[in-house]
Amino acid sequence: MMLTVNADLHCHSNVSDGTLSPEEVAARAHRNGVELWSLTDHDEIGGQSRAREAAHQLGMNYLSGSEISVTFAGETVHIVGLGFDATDTELAQGLAATRGGREQRARNMAADLERVGVHGAFEGALKYVGNPDLISRTHFARYMVEIGLCKELSDVFKRYLTEGKPGYVRHQWAKLGDAVRWITEAGGVAVIAHPGRYDLTPNEEFALFTEFKALGGLGVEVVTGSHTVPEYQKYADLACELDLLASRGSDFHDPRESHTDLGTLPALPKRVTPVWEALAHRIQRP
Ligand code: AMP
Ligand code: MN
Ligand code: MN
Ligand code: MN
Repeated sequence: MMLTVNADLHCHSNVSDGTLSPEEVAARAHRNGVELWSLTDHDEIGGQSRAREAAHQLGMNYLSGSEISVTFAGETVHIVGLGFDATDTELAQGLAATRGGREQRARNMAADLERVGVHGAFEGALKYVGNPDLISRTHFARYMVEIGLCKELSDVFKRYLTEGKPGYVRHQWAKLGDAVRWITEAGGVAVIAHPGRYDLTPNEEFALFTEFKALGGLGVEVVTGSHTVPEYQKYADLACELDLLASRGSDFHDPRESHTDLGTLPALPKRVTPVWEALAHRIQRP
């Protein structure tokens, strides 16, 4: 029964790098049949009360959410927090510190891009930014598609914005232990986002999961728009093996850019325990 709830616990609004407002994301989720929703903007909780109110207006259950950028073993890893108290001050301060370096990083990215002939990228990216505190690579990519450098966002990432490419700037995000602690001490559950997407060796991946668990992390995304079907199985097995709760989320950003729409993913495999079972007491009902 609980497994078949249409839960979408990972998506973005224009409070981070999505293009729709929290209200528009809520309406789209509801239209697509989502019954339990969480807006998980990058390093931000500024959209939480709007998202919750919009969800409740539509009769949809809500869990607070955010996707925190973390540096682990030199790689960027994302940790989704769900069901925390969105008024918690330590969480708010931690997220503010995590976002804090984004503007300088963006200026450095623009300077790098300038050197390979991409002019005015900082100002160009800013045109797409909904929240001045949260300028991301996605905003640069939108601008670079606009000026015709690439046809699609993914091409911009491949050619410019990833490790070893001319617009990539290394960045130190939050520590894994801090992110897990901010979420957990605010009453929420920490979840490893889209593990299939990281460039980790099997040993590093094992270290990520074991450290995450030792730090109090409880969940892993199994069915996500960022995983292939074989990865659903791989991470369902890992969730069972490591006794982690399983999450499900589209990682929706925009109607045209995102290949997975809100609420359209398959159900979690039957052998896992859904994260929302452990969060029943944190669900905000209309
Ligand atoms: P940032 O937090 O500024 O490093 O930006 C990370 C965001 O870039 C992710 O959350 C995705 O939305 C987006 N992104 C990363 N890689 C790709 C890709 N290959 N194609 C499209 N978007 C991507
Ligand atoms: Mn994103
Ligand atoms: Mn992510
Ligand atoms: Mn995401």
